[in-house]
Amino acid sequence: MQQYSGKSVYKGITMGPVAVLEKQDDLVRRRKIDDPEQEIERTGAACEQAKDQLGKLYDKAVKEVGETSAAIFEVHQMMLEDDDYLESIHNIIRTELVNAEYAVAQTGDNFSEMFASMDDDYMKARAADVKDISNRLIRILSGAGDTDLSSMEPSILIADDLSPSETVQLDKEKILAFVTVHGSSNSHTAILARTMNIPALIGVPLRLDEIKNGMTAVVDAHEGKVTFDPDEAMMARTAERIAQEKEKLRLLEELKGKENVTLSGKEIKIFANIGSVSDVGYVLENDAGGIGLFRSEFLYLGRTDFPTEEEQFQAYKQVLQTMAGKKVIIRTLDIGADKQVDYFNLAKEENPALGYRAIRICLKQPDIFKTQLRALLRAAVFGNLSIMYPMITSAEEVQKIYEIVAETEKELKEAEVPYKVPEQGIMIETPAAVMISDELAEIVDFFSIGTNDLTQYTLAIDRQNEKLDDFYNPHHKAILRMIKMVVDNSHKCGKWTGICGELGADTELTEEFINMGVDELSVSPSMVLKVRQRVREIS
Ligand code: PEP
Ligand code: MG
Repeated sequence: MQQYSGKSVYKGITMGPVAVLEKQDDLVRRRKIDDPEQEIERTGAACEQAKDQLGKLYDKAVKEVGETSAAIFEVHQMMLEDDDYLESIHNIIRTELVNAEYAVAQTGDNFSEMFASMDDDYMKARAADVKDISNRLIRILSGAGDTDLSSMEPSILIADDLSPSETVQLDKEKILAFVTVHGSSNSHTAILARTMNIPALIGVPLRLDEIKNGMTAVVDAHEGKVTFDPDEAMMARTAERIAQEKEKLRLLEELKGKENVTLSGKEIKIFANIGSVSDVGYVLENDAGGIGLFRSEFLYLGRTDFPTEEEQFQAYKQVLQTMAGKKVIIRTLDIGADKQVDYFNLAKEENPALGYRAIRICLKQPDIFKTQLRALLRAAVFGNLSIMYPMITSAEEVQKIYEIVAETEKELKEAEVPYKVPEQGIMIETPAAVMISDELAEIVDFFSIGTNDLTQYTLAIDRQNEKLDDFYNPHHKAILRMIKMVVDNSHKCGKWTGICGELGADTELTEEFINMGVDELSVSPSMVLKVRQRVREIS
């Protein structure tokens, strides 16, 4: 048995086989080789295997998302036959006498830079495709297997760290727990674990090369421990505890259909946060009153080109229809900072959290914004939609947004496309927005406080920096006073305020939030019933 400790970001206990997700960088080590022809032969075989994988992905995608979206896999297959691409790989192997993995990585970088610098938008977008196929080849060459985890049995996922674009590609039904070497409590992996109700440990000092795919592990996120190769006694004890946990969940289930009312009769709305259309199942399963935050940027992650207006429209419409008249608050894209997407071609920044992100991208690149707005306005006809804008710092930004919304509306009207302009609110996640919340309350329909970023910007603590987890104190008086101030300012104008950051699910604060007059808490689906339980105990 080998046991390691880490920090629990979502409690629970599970047992099962392990699947190690290796980072691309670890797979590409430059090695000198003696036989270049043998490396070229390995490359050829890897290309064949990649084409085979892509063929299967194409068939799967056609069934799940239709032919248009699946076509990308055909494009990737064709790229693997491109003479220039293959010649470059062969040339690097022959002239530098290096391994195929390295030659593919070099070629991938060179070609994607070349595409990215082209003027033509279509060619620009191919930069991400070239990276994608090169990564696929590298994984095959280095024996790391296919990144597509859909073929694995339900497993405990072990990784160095997981980026939002990696998490979005995971088949969520196949994950029993997350265990990562790095990561912070506020990372999107942690948020995903809470959405899916699965145990998660971060900061576990593992050496990934010592962990074998398929070996059994127990993740005890109550104790913050992961044990590999557990003995019989531990396995038996764990099975018992898993059964007890199931029983607790069953008891929570009895709260379904009940109101979120305190013993003294105060009511608060409890909504859920989602990142994808498929998360709506968790929202309904946990009996949330609505969706308080749909992080729409997840539609943009893990792909090689922008989602089209039609793709977005279908996704929003599906969520609205499934929620059948319950409120659905969709946040416009919050790309940048920790959510990087190659095809946005964003320059590397010194301080990405303080950089070109979220509404700033939308205001500077209104074409991207308008595509999303068109999809949202069209989808609004199908349910109870509210649009929410992230990272607001001034009233001028809101006015600019309204101008772009008005232009979008005019275009839809002229084209005689059915649409509706729904309720529009903003996220309060910068200290600036808090300080002028009196002014902002006059021009928006509602506020939703993003405590994850608000804490980061108020305490000057990078939420992604794991070394600062001990300093990241969302219970800080400054944050609580800010929440009170925002709620009061919204109420003065007859508007409402919710909390959609992780703090909303903190049951130690539920009573304080209710006393402050917070109108809505939007939490991970797995937390809805736990918060309801807490609300119903408050006298
Ligand atoms: C927040 O900042 O609190 C929030 C809800 O947004 P995100 O976590 O997606 O940045
Ligand atoms: Mg935020």
